[in-house]
Amino acid sequence: MRDNPQAICSRSFIDGGTHEFETDGICYMERDLLPGYAAIFRHPNDELNYCAYIIPGGKAVPSDLKAVHHVLLDNNPILRRHLGSNYTIEPMKGAWLRLGGIPKSYGDNLLIIGDAAGHIDPLTGEGIQFAMEGAEKAAETLIEAFRIGRFDERFLSTYQDKWHREFGHKFGLAEKASQLMARYPELVDSMARVANERDDEFFFAWADIMMGEAPWSAFLKPKLAIPMAAAAIRELWSQRLSPRLRQAPKRPYDSSL
Ligand SMILES: Cc1cc2nc3c(=O)[nH]c(=O)nc-3n(C[C@H](O)[C@H](O)[C@H](O)COP(=O)(O)OP(=O)(O)OC[C@H]3O[C@@H](n4cnc5c(N)ncnc54)[C@H](O)[C@@H]3O)c2cc1C
Repeated sequence: MRDNPQAICSRSFIDGGTHEFETDGICYMERDLLPGYAAIFRHPNDELNYCAYIIPGGKAVPSDLKAVHHVLLDNNPILRRHLGSNYTIEPMKGAWLRLGGIPKSYGDNLLIIGDAAGHIDPLTGEGIQFAMEGAEKAAETLIEAFRIGRFDERFLSTYQDKWHREFGHKFGLAEKASQLMARYPELVDSMARVANERDDEFFFAWADIMMGEAPWSAFLKPKLAIPMAAAAIRELWSQRLSPRLRQAPKRPYDSSL
């Protein structure tokens, strides 16, 4: 049973017209923050939403939120370049994120939905889509409950099965993926590299999985799996294994000793 929310996210709006941000949205994945990340999303009025996510498994812990939020703004060279130097930003706010779904989201006369039910992806910290899908499942359950006149825990437990089948089953793998990302940051480099090298179709297929639109099993399709596996091996080799081999001490049985 997970009692407390495990992740946390900051937010500050940046006034429209005061920044130099040119695109709709960017995730900034700094090694020390992985599997958390920072992101900027553009709103329709040119206002920007700057967020920093701290997700369990990495070096940062929730109490670091304020520092992470400001240090990235002040020191991340790419973020600084994207925002320019004259932007106006509001003070930071933050809120907890309960990840991965709670084990019991029902009781007599009770259904728990959205953030309260932990309907937040453990990899991305995103929950809007799951809050809506979970609410749909809750509504379906309640329509049936009214029809047969049952609001007891036993009947309402069907809601848990419904949301689990719809999206909850993905959360376990997403949690594993976030731990993998923290352990092997090279994987993030390889995903970015492949997304840059390939066409838009590849990028949107990848984005659909990351946003929860497509199942994680879609990563196993050859179109995604082959280039990503190749890039991951390349990155792991060049960043981790090859430098180690170059520095490796001579083995005791080396005849030149
Ligand atoms: C900084 C930040 C950035 C995020 N960015 C993203 C993102 O980019 N994409 C994404 O998918 N998810 C994002 N999330 C997660 C997303 O916001 C939530 O998963 C989603 O909003 C959950 O919806 P909800 O309806 O469960 O809860 P909420 O959206 O929090 O809605 C709950 C509502 O209930 C109201 N309320 C609380 N108590 C009471 C009460 N006693 N009486 C009456 N009303 C009450 C609250 O005021 C609130 O309006 C972010 C979260 C944070 C904190």
